[in-house]
Amino acid sequence: MPSHNPRNQDLQSPCQYLKGVGPARAADLSRLGIETLEDLLRHFPREYLDRSRMTPLGQLKPGERHSVRGTVLVSGIRRPRRGMNLLQVMIGDETGRLELVFFNQPFLKRMLPNGREVIASGEIGSFGQKLQLVSPEIEILDGDLDSAFPHAQGIVPVYPLTRGVNQRWMRKTVHALLEQRELMESVQEILPREWLDEKKWPLRESAFRQIHFPDAENAADSALERFKFEEAFLLQLLGALSREQFRKEKGPHLPDDSPLLENFIKSLPFQLTRAQEKSQGEILEDLRSGRRMNRMLQGDVGSGKTVVALGALLSAIGAGYQAAFMVPIEILAAQHFRRWQERLAALGVRSALLTGSTPAAEKKEILSELESGELPLVFGTQALIQEGVNFHNLGFAVVDEQHRFGVRQRASFHDQGRPHVLIMSATPIPRSLAMTLYGDLDLSIIDELPPGRPSLVSRRVGDGKTGQVYDYVKERLEKGERGFLIFPLVEESDKLELQAATERYEELSKTDFRDFHCELIHGRMNGARKAEVMERFASGETQLLIATTVIEVGIDIPEATLMVIHNPERFGLSQLHQLRGRIGRGTMKSYCILLEPGNLGEQARQRLEVFVKESDGFVLAEEDLKIRGPGDFFGVRQHGMQDLRLVHPIADAELVALARQRAQAMVSRDPQLMAADLQPLRELLDRLYRNRMPLAGVG
Ligand code: ADP
Ligand code: MG
Repeated sequence: MPSHNPRNQDLQSPCQYLKGVGPARAADLSRLGIETLEDLLRHFPREYLDRSRMTPLGQLKPGERHSVRGTVLVSGIRRPRRGMNLLQVMIGDETGRLELVFFNQPFLKRMLPNGREVIASGEIGSFGQKLQLVSPEIEILDGDLDSAFPHAQGIVPVYPLTRGVNQRWMRKTVHALLEQRELMESVQEILPREWLDEKKWPLRESAFRQIHFPDAENAADSALERFKFEEAFLLQLLGALSREQFRKEKGPHLPDDSPLLENFIKSLPFQLTRAQEKSQGEILEDLRSGRRMNRMLQGDVGSGKTVVALGALLSAIGAGYQAAFMVPIEILAAQHFRRWQERLAALGVRSALLTGSTPAAEKKEILSELESGELPLVFGTQALIQEGVNFHNLGFAVVDEQHRFGVRQRASFHDQGRPHVLIMSATPIPRSLAMTLYGDLDLSIIDELPPGRPSLVSRRVGDGKTGQVYDYVKERLEKGERGFLIFPLVEESDKLELQAATERYEELSKTDFRDFHCELIHGRMNGARKAEVMERFASGETQLLIATTVIEVGIDIPEATLMVIHNPERFGLSQLHQLRGRIGRGTMKSYCILLEPGNLGEQARQRLEVFVKESDGFVLAEEDLKIRGPGDFFGVRQHGMQDLRLVHPIADAELVALARQRAQAMVSRDPQLMAADLQPLRELLDRLYRNRMPLAGVG
């Protein structure tokens, strides 16, 4: 990418430009995501060793981390057993002695002759009376301290490494890079000075120095905070720019509340909750603004997102536009269609269902009616965004359970007459995470459940009591209720696990549950077969479904009141919550039983305990994130988690909120970031997020 600033180009030079980096080393670095000098600067330490204070050997305490400096007094090698080589090095200073222990590094003996000075860091252990440092980080001093810098003095960085790249090399190389005055001077500040002053954050160049080789511990903290904010801010800026671009576009103008919407709401057997009304209001405001909507609607399982979406979609239809409702799987599409078709028809709105298994003749007719504009509403799967589907005037598109769709699929409605888009998330995500991951979307949140839900009770039971649990399930099935037995398939593609689930199904349907009609459902079955199985379960012909995680999405069967989850410890809390959301949707009291193995670890036990006590999906999602970290968080894996190198969406929620607010303000003031002082910022955005930059290229 060409740049106006020739010095900047230097930081963009490949690492091979550095002394001591040949093609092999460059390949090693590239495994760490480091290609350019700037990447190297952005490769931050994972921790630090404090070598600014050396503890006198006489003052060491077992169990604490210390850095020490001493002289080698004596050393020796032992072979306690075959294949193991133990090097013991006794060091001393005026106050005491300490033994350093190294495993299988006999070559170190030569490098540590008696009288050689050495610095060592690590956690102090003890062996009888003797204090030890086992496998310490060491620096061998050949002469004065300065020759060993940057490893020996001050606060020393510890980097994430990869094969072929050791700590010492990394420190030296980064240090040498920081020493290149001219290069470092080309690091331009991208944030307004006032923001830095307010938080006492260092300038960017100084922040790079302080994060690698801090003058003091808190200098590193402050630099890190600055870079966290920077990361959050850049992502929010991308989001704000793309929201702005969406807003600039004219959306289908939907003037007033059409009577259709009102009639629909009136026809419902319940009143909207306050939270539903609020979200509805936010959506309608977008629709009346004349600008295009690109909004995410979030809500817990069962919070009633569907009626809000339908209401909005009807106001588009009322204004003469077509609407589409897309969900990721056939069963769900069919369910929505079946459930709403009649109510909508009563309001004069005809609808159709289009999925991969729609018969050819029917499909042809639907497509032709969509093209002519005769058909106002279509429910369906990805089939809706395939070649050959041409709407006459699509005004509103709903994308449900969006985590199943890629970003590109979400975007594909954009080519169909640029409709308003409402995206619904199946997994409640804490607000700060949603803001980070979906910075390009406006956000509405339904944060309350409809009243008068029958109670749903969750319990942990040891799997030693499986027989009793099954007996209880049988008792309730006999009364006409329906249930799920869940066997976890963490990856639906795992053949062995699938086979295990299948065998369990065959066994159970011949033994414990032979008097009932059981069926198996899993993710490798094709859509049509899954739909048939679900159909029989919904109609009551099938009483017990033995299932993998495939049922996690919005299946709605009011008679389902029982769920037994085997090996619940293998699921995240959000995923368990999603599963549990399949029961307790009717008027009867429902039970979710976690059959957990006896040898469960303490942490897993605590997690499951949180789950059975807590019914709020947003809270569970936060717990999940705290425990498992964002990388494993259910449902968002494919959505930009890799962008979060420094920011933790829960721990750094305040920074994220501040970043969003400032990004929005900046874009409102200067939608193209044209101001002269914003150019370094623009260039950085363009470099880091080249493919996603909503603005025209720089330069
Ligand atoms: P989700 O947000 O999980 O998609 P749904 O839209 O499927 O939830 O709604 C769950 C159930 O609650 C549906 O049966 C729906 O008809 C019902 N429902 C929605 N809103 C209300 C309300 N305000 N009062 C009572 N029941 C409601
Ligand atoms: Mg739903």
